[in-house]
Amino acid sequence: MNGSPGNQQVEQQLMLIGGDWVAARSGETLTVENPGRRQIIATVPRGSAIDVDLAVDRALAAFSSWRKTAPRERGRLLLSIASEIEAQHERLSRKIAEETGNALRTQARPEVKIAADIFRYFGGLASELKGETLPLSHDLLSFTQREPLGVVAAVIPWNAPFLLAAVKIAPALCAGNTMVMKTAEDAPLAVLALAKICAQFLPPGTLNMLSGTGLECGAPLLNHPLVAKLSFTGSTAVGRIVMEAAAKRILPVSLELGGKSPSIVFPDADDDWVIEGVVAAMRFTRQSQSCTAGSRLFIHRKLYDSVLEKLVEATSRLKVGDPLAEESDVGAIINERQFRKVCGYIEDGMKQSGSKLLTGGMPGDDASLAGGYYLKPTIFSQGTNDWRLAREEIFGPVLVAIPWDDEDEVIKMANDSHFGLAAYVWTHDIGKALRTARDIEAGWVQINQGGGQLPGHSYGGYKQSGLGREFSLAAMLDSFTQTKNVTINLTR
Ligand code: NAD
Repeated sequence: MNGSPGNQQVEQQLMLIGGDWVAARSGETLTVENPGRRQIIATVPRGSAIDVDLAVDRALAAFSSWRKTAPRERGRLLLSIASEIEAQHERLSRKIAEETGNALRTQARPEVKIAADIFRYFGGLASELKGETLPLSHDLLSFTQREPLGVVAAVIPWNAPFLLAAVKIAPALCAGNTMVMKTAEDAPLAVLALAKICAQFLPPGTLNMLSGTGLECGAPLLNHPLVAKLSFTGSTAVGRIVMEAAAKRILPVSLELGGKSPSIVFPDADDDWVIEGVVAAMRFTRQSQSCTAGSRLFIHRKLYDSVLEKLVEATSRLKVGDPLAEESDVGAIINERQFRKVCGYIEDGMKQSGSKLLTGGMPGDDASLAGGYYLKPTIFSQGTNDWRLAREEIFGPVLVAIPWDDEDEVIKMANDSHFGLAAYVWTHDIGKALRTARDIEAGWVQINQGGGQLPGHSYGGYKQSGLGREFSLAAMLDSFTQTKNVTINLTR
């Protein structure tokens, strides 16, 4: 990804520091590829520690006045950003599809829409940054107030970059913090475009947007002595490193990490909408490059064969192809490294004793798909929960279907994972549904639906899927403010 691609059509992007659009101090760049066509489409600055220093300096300078800006006014600016995102909806959606390989119609357009909703949601909540009065005694007035933390260092991945940037920027800024964010190497363009929109409305330095690699730009940002909070979305492996950086300085940290989420079909759930829901939960239309993909499918033995038959039929109707084409339901895997990694899991599944490949598999000889990193939705049946494919996060379109007989047994299998991000439950039986939701070890459980997060959901992981919450008012207060108690003796 380094160096110059030597292609005249390639757009050259800059980073946002202190209201200015700048190159990396080193002058170096990274290239960005369209994974659906394997073409280089842009260069971005290869930011490093010296750029991080400047960005944190500018964010700190902006903090002193941004924190004093009336919350209602901060909210008003976020609402203006929401309207501008909506005005640029199609342009931004195309950018996302181009750089991530996510299909324009099924993924990129909805992603931009929900990101605008996120800015609107938090913009409307600015006046809710309030504290409490505490009845300690007749002669004591005691109250709490919510205060911003300072400069938030934020690092995001590539799989839904625009939305993942929005769920950090909007609440952090609403609460009066300023921010330095590092975009993901593979998908910085739409987030830089978001920064451009934000910069139209926000005072310089309030939001700074860097591009660069994890080691050269992300690590110095997370270890910078003047940042007051770390907010990270990405893999559990890097999440551990982020937590170590936080531990060194006792910093508050939010981690949104990996998942291996169960999707549990009960014996009464013999409906077509369940099949649609399982497909949605597995995020097949995002090549399953989703932390919340319901990638362990537990089907009651009574329905096992019929559900799988319908599921194979439903996934075979999904059209895999160029992310920018209107007819594509499923786009391309983000890059060659990830493509090879997912192929490795498919090979492993094919070698697994007892496994049965029902659909998909290794890339075939379809000439129309030869130009990009395309894989078809892949389903293995007769799985067990101890398969490597059922334990590790594949982050690709590989589903393992596991039969079950007994409710306690399926809950035990569902919880037998070091992850605990999401879970999906499919049944008409309210008792079973609510018992399962109660007993499942996951931060986000959906019953009879498989869609994504909505503004207002309290979203985040149990176990090694993360720490802290995003998407909600409670999350904004917990993740991006600190509480001060003031107690006054009224007799003095
Ligand atoms: P990743 O952890 O490799 O990278 C994420 C970000 O961290 C990138 O910007 C990268 O440059 C940066 N980074 C890498 N090493 C770093 C270091 N040593 N110091 C500082 N920054 C560093 O993850 P990825 O492959 O980009 O994304 C996929 C992962 O993200 C999956 O595990 C997925 O489950 C997870 N994810 C979680 C959520 C959630 O909400 N829980 C959402 C989306 C993705």
